[in-house]
Amino acid sequence: MPVKALMEEPRVDEVFVPTVEEEGGNIIGLGVFSSEKIATNVLKDYFRHSWKGSIISANLARWEVDIIGHDGLTLLAKWSCQICPMCDRPTFWIDLDSFSALCYGTACGAWMEDNIHDSEVIDIGVPTIRWLHQSRSIKQAMIEFRKKKAEMKAAAGDYDDDMVNASMEDAKTRMERLMRKEGLSSLGDALGTYVDEEE
Ligand SMILES: [Zn+2]
Repeated sequence: MPVKALMEEPRVDEVFVPTVEEEGGNIIGLGVFSSEKIATNVLKDYFRHSWKGSIISANLARWEVDIIGHDGLTLLAKWSCQICPMCDRPTFWIDLDSFSALCYGTACGAWMEDNIHDSEVIDIGVPTIRWLHQSRSIKQAMIEFRKKKAEMKAAAGDYDDDMVNASMEDAKTRMERLMRKEGLSSLGDALGTYVDEEE
C-alpha cells in the first residue's frame, strides 16, 4: 500500500559502533547507534567504569550499511586506557588521534592536551587541586604528574589522622580544664572570656 510506504522510517545509511578491548584481545561491543554523538556518550560513560575490568583500549567506528566487507568501515577515534598517574586507577583514557587524555575516575579528572598556541607544549592539570603545569612530551607529563602526587603524599604525611586526633583531644581537654577552673558552663562563654582577656 502506498500510504504505508510513506510512513516508513527514514533509511539508515550509516551506524556508529563503539567497542572496547580487554586484555587478551577480547572485543566488547557497546551497541550500534544512529549518531556519532550518542555513540561517543555511550563510550565515555563506559570510560568511568573501566576500572571494573581489564580494558586496554577502545575505538569508535562508522559503518556504512549494505556494503560487504571492510570498505564500509571508517575508524573515527581510538583511545588507549592507562593507569592514572594521579589516582592509580585504570581510568586514564588517552585519545590517540588528538593526543589528549582525561581521567574519568570520580574525584580525579587529571588531564593533558596539546597547548593551543605552541604545539611543542603539552598542558596538564588536576582540577580537584587546581594544579596546572606544562611539559614537552607525554613521557615528561606523566613524570610531572607522579612528582606532584609524591609531593602531595609527603605533605599529607605531616597531617596523619592520629596526630590530628591527638591534638584535637588536647585542645578539648585544655578547654574542659579551663572551663572547670573558671566555672564556665558553655563553650560560648569560654570564648567570650578569651576575647575579654585580650582587650
Ligand atoms: Zn585519576
